[in-house]
Amino acid sequence: MTSTTLDPSTVDSPTTAELDARNISAWFGGHKVLDRVSLRMPAGQVTALIGPSGCGKSTFLRILNRMHELVPGAELAGEVLLDGEDLYDPSRRITDARRHVGMVFQKPNPFPAMSIYDNVLAGLKLTAVRASRRTKDDLVEECLRKAGLWHEVQTRLRSPGGALSGGQQQRLCIARSLAVRPRVLLMDEPCSALDPTSTRRIEETIGELSTEVTIVIVTHNMQQAQRVSQHCAFFLAEQGTPGVIVEHGLTSAMFDTPQDRRTADYVHGRF
Ligand code: ADP
Ligand code: MG
Repeated sequence: MTSTTLDPSTVDSPTTAELDARNISAWFGGHKVLDRVSLRMPAGQVTALIGPSGCGKSTFLRILNRMHELVPGAELAGEVLLDGEDLYDPSRRITDARRHVGMVFQKPNPFPAMSIYDNVLAGLKLTAVRASRRTKDDLVEECLRKAGLWHEVQTRLRSPGGALSGGQQQRLCIARSLAVRPRVLLMDEPCSALDPTSTRRIEETIGELSTEVTIVIVTHNMQQAQRVSQHCAFFLAEQGTPGVIVEHGLTSAMFDTPQDRRTADYVHGRF
């Protein structure tokens, strides 16, 4: 792209998109870890993925933005549709898929030596979106505001990302994901390395963001799942079998009137 301003498609208000995973199976080195998992994650809403460790939640999340294929020995079957379009279409570049479907990890991972300002913009380079200086300033402010970090860092945008507290670093990572205007944001236990105050602030941010970006969050915290999500899927891998979704639906129904005994046991902490 030769333009010196942001690609017009990225300047428009971001539009949320529905993600539809169909019959997803996954293997590592021939060992099956997910078995025909299907889940529709509605646009502009928050879907929580819950379940014990090792049942394939992170693997499923990585499949939703094509990170799975980067793992050596990893295989995949099934389809992922982003507003009806195949994310794995051979003509679609992996960076394109990653631009539309962003990811925030459990451990905050800003570039520690890079300034806060440059951290926010780091994803633009990877996805080849170019911006003028003025647009960049606006974009940095906008993303930091949305991530709830602007007021804390506006006077020190040139400080290194690594100088921030853990909770601030995670909010910087959220700002960085937002800069490329994703349509979906995947979050893999984004608060489990954080203190309760930082956790609360990120939960507030999730609530505010969900009107403009579809969110899929993995959490082990049942209260958090209830606070932030409208939809919920319970993953389980029983006795060496690959992970499946036992039950999914509205979060309120999953917690109040679970249909499967195993869901009831899990959400009530009897696992
Ligand atoms: P969860 O996020 O629910 O804890 P994961 O998706 O991390 O589960 O793991 C699902 C299964 O896949 C586990 O048995 C795990 O050991 C295996 N697994 C995950 N990542 C890899 C990998 N890179 N190589 C081999 N096995 C893996
Ligand atoms: Mg995990």
